[in-house]
Amino acid sequence: MKKIVVIGLFLFFGLAVKGFSQTVYASAKGEKYHTADCKLSGDADGMTLAAAKKAGKGACGVCKPDEHAKDKVSQCAGKTADGTKCKRMTASKSGKCFQHNKS
Ligand SMILES: [Zn+2]
Ligand SMILES: [Zn+2]
Repeated sequence: MKKIVVIGLFLFFGLAVKGFSQTVYASAKGEKYHTADCKLSGDADGMTLAAAKKAGKGACGVCKPDEHAKDKVSQCAGKTADGTKCKRMTASKSGKCFQHNKS
């Protein structure tokens, strides 16, 4: 019985950490944070959801980052102009962020 409680706690903390380590995108001056796929994120920097909230930023009403928290997010499969792998995260089925999805 004790073992089950320990496993339960372990799962709970694992999920909690995963939720707060979700990557969102916000520019330094922006008041909103966005998902990687949001066109309004522009040249925003990636940060954790926890960091964005700590900075006083709110969820974008267009891309609704909080509703995408459960989406399966992976690193973009596209390449940047200098040939390095794109660092943006995306929940898109194509496996590419909105910038690389265009082509
Ligand atoms: Zn947005
Ligand atoms: Zn990309």
